[in-house]
Amino acid sequence: MPGMEFFGAQERAEINDVLETGILFRYNHEAQRNNVYKAREFEAEVAKLVGANYAHAVANGSAAALCAMVAAGIGAGDEVIVPPFTYVATIEAVLLAGALPVFADIDETLCLSAEGIRRAITPRTKGICLVHMCGQMADMDAIMDVVNEHNLVLVEDAGQAMGASYKGISTGLWGRAGAYSFDFFKIATAGEGGIMVTNDEQVYRFADNYSDHGHDHIGSNRGMEQHPVLGFNYRISELHAAVGLAQTRRVPTIVQQNNTHKKRLMDRLSNVAGVSFARIPDPSGDSATFLNLLLPNEAAARQTVAELQAAGVGGFNYWFTNMYHFINQWDHLKEMRTASALPIEKFGAPQDYNNLDIPKAQEVIGRLISFGIRATWTPEEVDALADQIGVAVNRAMPVAA
Ligand SMILES: *Cc1c(COP(=O)(O)O)cnc(C)c1O
Repeated sequence: MPGMEFFGAQERAEINDVLETGILFRYNHEAQRNNVYKAREFEAEVAKLVGANYAHAVANGSAAALCAMVAAGIGAGDEVIVPPFTYVATIEAVLLAGALPVFADIDETLCLSAEGIRRAITPRTKGICLVHMCGQMADMDAIMDVVNEHNLVLVEDAGQAMGASYKGISTGLWGRAGAYSFDFFKIATAGEGGIMVTNDEQVYRFADNYSDHGHDHIGSNRGMEQHPVLGFNYRISELHAAVGLAQTRRVPTIVQQNNTHKKRLMDRLSNVAGVSFARIPDPSGDSATFLNLLLPNEAAARQTVAELQAAGVGGFNYWFTNMYHFINQWDHLKEMRTASALPIEKFGAPQDYNNLDIPKAQEVIGRLISFGIRATWTPEEVDALADQIGVAVNRAMPVAA
């Protein structure tokens, strides 16, 4: 996860601009701030990077996903189709929006499949929160067909996929709004931070108001303007925005380095018996933050992870380790142990969360082994890792080898 690998002079310089004025708040204080507006600059930089008309920075990626959904028009009692493989924040955001998460199946892209979405649609379906997992992207042509056929509101939680695109269009811009995370483990980090992107001015305005208690930010004096909606405080500080700004400028280089390493790993592993890869619908748009291997079955994956651990090599599975990204880890959701259970209590459970029809997700996540790619690796380190992975797979599957 490269952002954290690159904390340096540029980040320090941006932070220092803020410290010198002492204005850590993104609004007002014109006389003291010496024209330093890091949150605004951060938004402009992300908008430029991904090609969005509007970007709005908030406190974290979870808040960005919530703001994207609410601003896109998702609200009380709406069914929202979500994947069972995502960081749990996606599901929390649906519930906080007052809506009902409906789980659909994924496929070898590690993302919702068009077929899975089709099977989960009911008369109450309002939209989809599509999550681009592990730095790759969903199969957008097929998914856009379903979205358009059923007139669904599409929101993208691209928390793990800033810098990824499909046929030249960035993740985050396929639907009404998209969200990125700048937490410490993402491709670019602000320590904590998130940003919502959209091409729709109304959606942008709503998110901007909603994320700051409904202040409309029209005119120069925040606090004395109009308040069109109720919201909450999801504001980003100038200090975090300063780091996010410097990190965003690094993304094109990071994506390029990640891709060089991932291609080299995939080339070297492609002739190891039993190894295949998660499907990347547009390899030229991969952000390549993870290498995602698929083993023939769960037993082989378990044994390979055990061999990797014994050899001190990274590599993890989201099902049978304690990662928090697959529905089998979400007992709190199944039992509705949450303060935001209100939508379920009021509108009823849209599905039996204990008995979901997601066979493909269970199969694919059981076989998946992911490796975080470090942009700063040398070619020698990449080759050594490929060799270690090959050895682990051969040991785990002597017959196949
Ligand atoms: C990281 C992540 C989030 C949450 O982002 P935070 O900045 O940690 O709040 C949401 N969704 C996905 C898919 C993520 O990977």
